Amino acid sequence: MIYDTILQAIGNTPMIRLNHIADEDSAVILVKFEALNVGGSIKTRTAYNMICQAEKEGLLSKDSIIVEPTSGNQGIGLALVGAVKGYKTIIIMPDSVSEERRKLVRHYGAKVKLVHDSGDIGSCIDECLQTALRMAKENPLVYVPQQFSNPNNTMAHVNHTALEILAQVDGPIHGFCSGIGTGGTITGIGKTLKEKNPDMTIWAVEPEKAAILSGGLIGTHIQMGIGDGIIPEILDRRIYDDICITTDDEALEMAKRLAREEGLMCGISSGTNVVAAVKLAKKLGAGKTVVTVLPDTAERYFSTPLFEE
Ligand code: PMP
Repeated sequence: MIYDTILQAIGNTPMIRLNHIADEDSAVILVKFEALNVGGSIKTRTAYNMICQAEKEGLLSKDSIIVEPTSGNQGIGLALVGAVKGYKTIIIMPDSVSEERRKLVRHYGAKVKLVHDSGDIGSCIDECLQTALRMAKENPLVYVPQQFSNPNNTMAHVNHTALEILAQVDGPIHGFCSGIGTGGTITGIGKTLKEKNPDMTIWAVEPEKAAILSGGLIGTHIQMGIGDGIIPEILDRRIYDDICITTDDEALEMAKRLAREEGLMCGISSGTNVVAAVKLAKKLGAGKTVVTVLPDTAERYFSTPLFEE
């Protein structure tokens, strides 16, 4: 089997049972391992779908410049898709995201513009967006996918990630949980899984220091990719039944355990998701099945506390 381009290889990531993390009296936990996705994260799926749909809608020409504000993985995904499809790409990022993310974006040939994060990540992300929208106003060739409000972000999960999960899991899925960046993952996967099993339980997961959905504090935290301090437009707040809050230490410890005990090299927000999955699995009990995603690879966290001795 030969792919015409790397883009055809996006998706079809493995679903893996955790063997050492949950108690015996808990539900089985299955994780979708997006570290093995093209581009090393779940966000390559959304980058590809948003760009393909924009092409179909006539929003892109061969000279278009993709400009997107992002805290990381979406930028890497768009830089990759832009490289293959031949679009110039400019990614606008808070300077608080890991150095690896910037380097990866540049390595795909895209440009990075940094915006200073003074500790209020929500207003920094908004400033990144305003910068992108200003650029679009000044140059008609600029196309801003706007992942936080673009329904084709969610649709990547409805049409692909969720269908893969349903095909991979034998029998009913009783629980699903996910942290929220744009909300595309929880809204897209949640919608499709709940249609299949309306009695299932879905948990949104929030960092303790950025628990905006719970009306909590908005501050800096290390669970990169989620808890951006805004309530995204595409997040369907009716999709989750409850909210689970995780601390930085819990997420970090779990991400380390996933590598050491399960061989799963994943990022900090993967730890976040599994901390919540363990609690949900305990609540649902033995004989049930809980699914979550591991959104990205650990290899973009060398400069973060994940790799501190
Ligand atoms: N974890 C990581 C590492 C991410 O990059 C993202 C995307 N921002 C998420 C989780 C959350 O995904 P979503 O944007 O679909 O809510």
